[in-house]
Amino acid sequence: MASLAGELSRGPSRSAWLTARAKNAVGRPTFIAIVGGGITGALVAHAFAEANVSVALIEGGLVGCGSTAASSALLLQEPDLGLHELRQRYGTIASRRLWRLSQEAARKLIALLQRLDIRCDLVPRDTIYYALRGQGHEQLTREFELRTREGFHARWLSPGRLRATTGIPGRGAILTRGGAQFDPYRACCGLIRAASDSGAQIFERTPVRRIDARRDRVKLHTRPRTP
Ligand SMILES: Cc1cc2nc3c(=O)[nH]c(=O)nc-3n(C[C@H](O)[C@H](O)[C@H](O)COP(=O)(O)OP(=O)(O)OC[C@H]3O[C@@H](n4cnc5c(N)ncnc54)[C@H](O)[C@@H]3O)c2cc1C
Repeated sequence: MASLAGELSRGPSRSAWLTARAKNAVGRPTFIAIVGGGITGALVAHAFAEANVSVALIEGGLVGCGSTAASSALLLQEPDLGLHELRQRYGTIASRRLWRLSQEAARKLIALLQRLDIRCDLVPRDTIYYALRGQGHEQLTREFELRTREGFHARWLSPGRLRATTGIPGRGAILTRGGAQFDPYRACCGLIRAASDSGAQIFERTPVRRIDARRDRVKLHTRPRTP
């Protein structure tokens, strides 16, 4: 399957579905079936394949061409909500855990892309949360104090420092290290190639039309699209 994934990584003009290997593999029983070949499916397929679990990934169109290709490509350590908001919503312990898991996920994804030597223009990026006005500034200071108290990395940027670093005329900012930026499409194709190298079956242009779940098995009904 290595050459199949090799074709995937070259881009949408070469369809893996049209290869004989892909056709031959249809119908083989598998322990895990993943529907969708975006970055999520690619990561999950790779994790199972690398752990020697039989896995098939089924993509209705072309891998990496869903919202993965539309992403702004920022890998942020912070969840979408600040630590303070998370704490208000879920309490101290859960918010701390969410924050830790989010940091760990970003770290692990960077390490995985590096370990697999996936060429996706991966570069480290700091993130900056800034406030332009009074109320935002108060929230930001509160967030900074909480993150520091909880032992999470955060550096405060004064207005002068913020302007010198970014050109933004704000009232202050939190700088966080450990983020990254990469080409999500190439990362996705690289992960799928690595999954395939480890034994995953990959199918493109194969929409899953129906899923029958029974006690002892799950059957996916697909209909290959004509190219
Ligand atoms: C404009 C924009 C900017 C973004 N910026 C960022 C960012 O900077 N940082 C960040 O972390 N996230 C960002 N995101 C979010 C990020 O892109 C998504 O969270 C991520 O790509 C989702 O990946 P996915 O694999 O879950 O979904 P997708 O990439 O959408 O993959 C799902 C796949 O499933 C396939 N599929 C669906 N149904 C079937 C079926 N029945 N049978 C077979 N296949 C099927 C689809 O064809 C598709 O390829 C952004 C999103 C958008 C839209």
